[in-house]
Amino acid sequence: METESLIDKIKALKRQKQVSIFAHYYQPIEIQKLANYIGDSLGLAKIAREQKDSKYIILAGVHFMAETASILNQNKVILSPNFEAGCPLASFIDPKIINEFKMKYPNSPLIVYVNTTAETKANSDVCCTSSNSLKVIENVAKDWKTDTILFGPDKNLANFVRNRTSLNIITVPEKGNCPIHNFLSIKDIEREKKNHPGASILVHPESPLEVQNEADFIGSTSQMLQYTKDNPNPNGFIVGTEIGLIEHLRWKNPEQSYYPLNKYAICKNMKKINLKNLFETLDACGTPSQSKYEIRVSEESANLAIVPLERMLQYS
Ligand code: SF4
Repeated sequence: METESLIDKIKALKRQKQVSIFAHYYQPIEIQKLANYIGDSLGLAKIAREQKDSKYIILAGVHFMAETASILNQNKVILSPNFEAGCPLASFIDPKIINEFKMKYPNSPLIVYVNTTAETKANSDVCCTSSNSLKVIENVAKDWKTDTILFGPDKNLANFVRNRTSLNIITVPEKGNCPIHNFLSIKDIEREKKNHPGASILVHPESPLEVQNEADFIGSTSQMLQYTKDNPNPNGFIVGTEIGLIEHLRWKNPEQSYYPLNKYAICKNMKKINLKNLFETLDACGTPSQSKYEIRVSEESANLAIVPLERMLQYS
């Protein structure tokens, strides 16, 4: 099917079946343009919870995002266009690894990034995002009367927090990382600074510490977006995150210039959602084939996994 006709069909089906499409900032731009809501993982799950109109939500993102939406929205049907869209960072941690660390540090709370599976969340004490990690960790330490925190699975986000607190942060596991951000380097910074003199450098805290140290601003995708609005720069912005955010910025705020810190920072898993599988998911919605696309965290697991998510909201 031609791209244009596929887009028209998706728009028509979306209206007809009253389906909402939620897309992450790292989604291909053509998917973002079809979405009812665009955001980061937690932002999308929270909107899904507040949203009253649609019973069906298609989550255009990776698997753990659809799971988080299901945990927070047990009364809604959450659909994923491609079950193979996993997240290598989320795969770094599981209940077996958690158990090993819990045996070694029985009195220390475990805080996990929202970029984790429902199973990992269900075995953790508190969740956090890249934007609230420091606040959550400090408030948990105060409340649990401890100076040692287990934190996983991203070692770079752990370093970001470690640099801003006197608490003892134990990374669980030691070397977890997002390959898309972890491969950004000082060489990228040097090259892009030379290519775009005067541009502001924005990087994600999932980037290596030496890259973070060279940035004008370190923040989550939503925080970077806000930064470009609040701090306009006629020389533009060098953006150290997945390419989808740069496409989003060029679409939404075209009056400024955005340059990727590395043009190969592309998350293959995020790009596993495309117009074809989005159309097929919409087409199946409300029919017996819907189950092929449905992601449902069992009530039992959701009841466990929601606890660290709710604690995060309380601590942030
Ligand atoms: S960009 Fe990194 S953290 Fe995000 S989905 Fe891809 S691998 Fe996972």
